[in-house]
Order: sequence, then structure tokens, then C-alpha cells
Amino acid sequence: MAMSLEGEHSVKAFGWAARDSSGHLSPFKFSRRATGEKDVTFTVLYCGICHSDLHNVKNEWGITSYPVVPGHEIVGVVTEVGTKVTKFKVGDKVGVGCMVGSCRSCANCKEDVENYCPKMIFTYGVKYYDGTTTYGGYSDIMVSDEHFVIKIPDNLPLDGGAPLLCAGITVYSPLKYYGLDKAGMHLGVVGLGGLGHMAVKFAKAMGLKVTVISTSPNKKKEAMDHLGADAFLISRNTEEMELAMGTMDGIIDTVSAVHALLPLIGLLKTNGKLVMVGAPEKPLELAVFPLLLGRKMVGGSGFGGMKETQEMIDFAAKHNIVADIEVIPMDYVNTAMERLLKADVKYRFVIDIANSLKPF
Ligand SMILES: [Zn+2]
Ligand SMILES: [Zn+2]
Repeated sequence: MAMSLEGEHSVKAFGWAARDSSGHLSPFKFSRRATGEKDVTFTVLYCGICHSDLHNVKNEWGITSYPVVPGHEIVGVVTEVGTKVTKFKVGDKVGVGCMVGSCRSCANCKEDVENYCPKMIFTYGVKYYDGTTTYGGYSDIMVSDEHFVIKIPDNLPLDGGAPLLCAGITVYSPLKYYGLDKAGMHLGVVGLGGLGHMAVKFAKAMGLKVTVISTSPNKKKEAMDHLGADAFLISRNTEEMELAMGTMDGIIDTVSAVHALLPLIGLLKTNGKLVMVGAPEKPLELAVFPLLLGRKMVGGSGFGGMKETQEMIDFAAKHNIVADIEVIPMDYVNTAMERLLKADVKYRFVIDIANSLKPF
């Protein structure tokens, strides 16, 4: 590489990066572009650790280019805005989620689903328009075109609010798009992790009846007493599953391990929708006959557009929805990743960047 990453841009930046597929993260000096006309630059205060960060640092999807600075649940305070920025000013609380760019002219972009733009640019680990690599929020500062910046309402805590930018929108968007947002509907949520616990909170705030479906009986108390779910189903308990057959309008399936879909399809009412938001590495088996017999549907959804992300954040602020988090210092990140692999977190790690990221 001819140019050092520190000298690539004019603004010095500092974060933690993985250098190879061991996924081990360590301090890393790089640079960010100076605030452009349409850019918002902000000091990063908190950054959530998403499961996809873990996949990325270990190159489990085979697309990682090193060094990679992960993090796409980024919140902070604006320090500088470009001359043509209209939505933000210095001192505003802001966030950046999964993407920092899109073509802005295709059908998807025009319909406010930039997340499905073929030229969408992820927040970290890909090439930006200027040919340089994007770096995520495990870093001291962030710069983004204002279109991809979210305004964080004053009453929304920044630490618990950070995970809304990926985990929150990933479950909010399908609830809206698939029409599973009507009070009185019955929703199943499969898996009670970062995504699942957010799905329960959003669905409850929308007035739905929520049943958590899990392999582990020991999550029942937590799901019902703490998260406010109405019912709990142990997926291995065939008797319980039988009793719940045909009762659900929809299911949000957050599980990223290979698992059986047939029992879940059985839980749906006629016209019911099973929506996948987890990303199993291998294809799942899909029996079609049960779909035909109930005009049922299996769909997918991947995070959300900017307009909807802002709507989700405003909804969360109004209904006091934040993620349940464990705030950690930067130098705990490798341990956090190991624990995340074992699902040993309730329910999201959030890095206290401002107080623990130390330059070297
Ligand atoms: Zn994510
Ligand atoms: Zn586009």
C-alpha cells in the first residue's frame, strides 16, 4: 500500500481495528475526510456491538478487507457541519446506522428504502465514493453525509439508544412493511437476543400481543416479567407448540442458526407472515405445502431506509424504548466478542467510546 491510512485524509482519527481473520481488535490510527459541504462530523460517544461486527472481523462472510474498524450503531454529538448542511448544527445529538451512502436516484432511493439501493455503501469495510475505505464507530470521530445521519431526540438515552440504529430498525421496519403493527394482532418473536428483545419492545408499544418462542425455558421469566411479553413458547415442547398452532398473525424470526421453519409456519393463522431478519449461513429447508394451505408467506427484511429509521427513533423516544445494554470500556471489546459468540449478553454490548477510547 503506497499511502498510509493516517495520511489518506486530512483529519486524524483513532479507533480499534481487526487486522486479520483472528478478529482480534487492537488500537489503530487512521484518518477521516474533512467535513464536506453536505457532511456532518461528530464526536462518537457510544457504539453498539452488532452480531454482524463479529462476523465481519472474522471474515465469516468472506467479504472483509482488513484493517476493519467495525461499528454501525454509532451515536455522538456534532462538532462541525458543512456549509450546505440544513438538518443539523453543532451540539446536536446524532447517530449513524448501517449505511453512509446510496445512489440517491434509483427507484429504491426515491422510495426511501436506500437500504435496498444496489449502490448502497455500508458504514464500514467498503469503498466510499472517493475510493477510500469506510470505517465504523469503534473510533473517536465519525463523518457522514447528512442524509445518512439520524437526529436523536433529547429524551432518548444515547447509550441504550445506540443499538436502535441497527437492531431497532431491523425489527421495526418489517413490523411496519408487513403490516404487523396493528394493535390486537398476535406476533411471535423467535429468539431473544439483540434483535428479539427489541422486537418485543416495539410490538408491545404498538399494542400487539407478543409471544416469545425460544429453545431455552430459562428465558421465560425474563421475557414475560422484564420485557413484557404476553406468552412464552418453548419451541422443543411439541405439546405447547400444538396448542399455539394457527394463532399468530406474524412471526419475526431473529435466529441466525440453522433451524426448522415448519413448526413456525404452523403457528401462523391463514395469511400469516413469517419474516426472517436473522441471517443463517446455510440455506434453510422450506416446505411449501403448508404455505399453500394457509396462503402463508415467508419473507425477509434488512435494516431500513433513513426516513423510516428516523421515524423509528422518534417512536422509540416517545415510547421510552431503548435496548437493554451492558456498557463496556473499549479495551473489553475482545472479551465482549467472545461472550457475544456464546450469546452471553443481555442484550447488547455498547462501548463507552468517549470515556474509554484512549489514543496511544
Ligand atoms: Zn448490525
Ligand atoms: Zn439508489
